Amino acid sequence: MSNTSHYHDLIIVGSGGGSMCAALYAASRGKKVLVLEKSGYYGGTTARSGGVMWIPNNRFMKRDGVEDSFERARTYLEALAETFEDAPGATPERRERFLKEAPAMIDFLVEQGLELDRVPFWPDYNDELSGGCKTSRCVVAAPFNKKALGEWADKLRPGFLDLPATLDEALAIPYVKRSWAARKVFVRVAFKVIGALLTGKRYVSCGAALQARLLQAALSHGVEIRLETAVRELLENNGRVTGVIAEHNGKREQLGASLGVIVGAGGFAHNQALRKQYQPGTNVQWSSAPVEDTGDMHLELQRIGAALAQMEEMVGQPC
Ligand SMILES: Cc1cc2nc3c(=O)[nH]c(=O)nc-3n(C[C@H](O)[C@H](O)[C@H](O)COP(=O)(O)OP(=O)(O)OC[C@H]3O[C@@H](n4cnc5c(N)ncnc54)[C@H](O)[C@@H]3O)c2cc1C
Repeated sequence: MSNTSHYHDLIIVGSGGGSMCAALYAASRGKKVLVLEKSGYYGGTTARSGGVMWIPNNRFMKRDGVEDSFERARTYLEALAETFEDAPGATPERRERFLKEAPAMIDFLVEQGLELDRVPFWPDYNDELSGGCKTSRCVVAAPFNKKALGEWADKLRPGFLDLPATLDEALAIPYVKRSWAARKVFVRVAFKVIGALLTGKRYVSCGAALQARLLQAALSHGVEIRLETAVRELLENNGRVTGVIAEHNGKREQLGASLGVIVGAGGFAHNQALRKQYQPGTNVQWSSAPVEDTGDMHLELQRIGAALAQMEEMVGQPC
């Protein structure tokens, strides 16, 4: 393997939502950014997801006259966090930082040209708690014609709902036999599908639309994205991470990053050994996360001394 061959300001591992938001932000501030993605698809689990972002006190709530505030959302998170007070990912400082930065993140994404909107009805999962919201604090991306991505269109990971329909329209359709409102939605979506077929548009929605919009904005700022490129090692110098060793087509390359490396490499849903260690009795076959989420970066971060926490936690649902 050769010595460091290329230098960037920032290297980002993985192309999920967290990674791409960081990539876009850094590139919009003039930084040279490289995203390394192990899969042949761009977009991570995020592209496969509902793409529903929980953002209290966001600009769309203000627009719609829905009451919310930093304090109200903090009260809700405090009530929720009571049961896991010792979780390092949810300390009071982190909760406050999230509540301050999340609406600012949405403002930034809108300024960058991403078309986002509020989900009209998506109550907080524990809306009975003090500070809970009974309508919706959630934001999603508008459906997107992925043909606008050019050669990247077929590299976007297929989504949850590859249709010209918003999430609330999709959720109404199963009630078509029971409700006139749902029938109206069905007809509207059917017209949009026919329109797309006639005009050759290829719509994606939900998480795939979010990832497509982030990709379009990131590419316009010159972010470089390499697919089928797995990060194998994090390189350290005097206690700082200064680069990575990445592998593409069996060939390893050393890449430098002057500002550091951001790891957004997903979870370990597809690593049976880690499941056995942290979540005994669960199985990789039960996961709808992409197969590339194998926790290799958890192990690599641990090797260089990072602390792991809340490894027993997971989100599970029948599907
Ligand atoms: C069906 C479904 C629906 C969901 N709906 C929602 C929702 O509506 N709202 C919500 O908040 N959450 C939802 N989730 C959860 C949410 O999608 C994930 O928590 C989130 O997308 C994780 O984002 P991430 O950026 O951390 O990682 P990911 O999106 O998983 O991205 C990680 C990327 O890193 C890559 N990678 C891994 N290892 C390496 C390596 N060594 N080198 C280079 N690349 C690597 C992977 O290939 C992957 O592309 C849903 C999940 C699923 C499965």
